[in-house]
Amino acid sequence: MTNLLDDPMISGLYRGYLAQAINRFGPAVHGRPVRSIVYKGDIPECTHLNETDLEIRLTESARQNRQQQKIQLSHEAVHVICRGPNTTARLIEEGTAVHFSMTVRPYEAGYLKKVIDWGLPPQFLVAADLYRKLISTRRDAVKHIRTKQALVLDELTTDQLADAIPALGATDREALLLPLSDWQIAVQQGWADLESGRAALRQWAR
Ligand SMILES: [Zn+2]
Repeated sequence: MTNLLDDPMISGLYRGYLAQAINRFGPAVHGRPVRSIVYKGDIPECTHLNETDLEIRLTESARQNRQQQKIQLSHEAVHVICRGPNTTARLIEEGTAVHFSMTVRPYEAGYLKKVIDWGLPPQFLVAADLYRKLISTRRDAVKHIRTKQALVLDELTTDQLADAIPALGATDREALLLPLSDWQIAVQQGWADLESGRAALRQWAR
């Protein structure tokens, strides 16, 4: 399988997004190098090759689609810098990745609006809604949390989150720390709302 780190276009895009993600969200977790970027499957992901090394998987459909390459690489760059020993992401990390991929540029005019209108998976809308609440307390919330409390967002505790962002309500804290796979709990409990998540994305995409 071709390693796209050897492709100057893709690796240039990736390194640019990585630098911007570090600038916005604080340093990358130490000792977790990305060894390869490949086209594989139909869900983009940042996966572990072993205990330390990571691989970014872009979808097969991104092969011929520069806009998808950008949106996927920028999103996965956030997982790369936040990733600890586990492969899970919490809603706080997913919201950070979604927001970054929607606000880092450049895309062709109107591309992000199209992506939102095609319909994003509901877990992204939930993550966006919660992230919107988080950054309304302070714009650099994630950088602040990561540099003051836990670089690995997967290891952040509710107490640390309360300490870093006192303005955040208890249920918002609990929701942000749910694993992405438990997004439905946030909806059932009334902690997040799909429509309000979609509205946040529309605003970010402007
Ligand atoms: Zn993600």
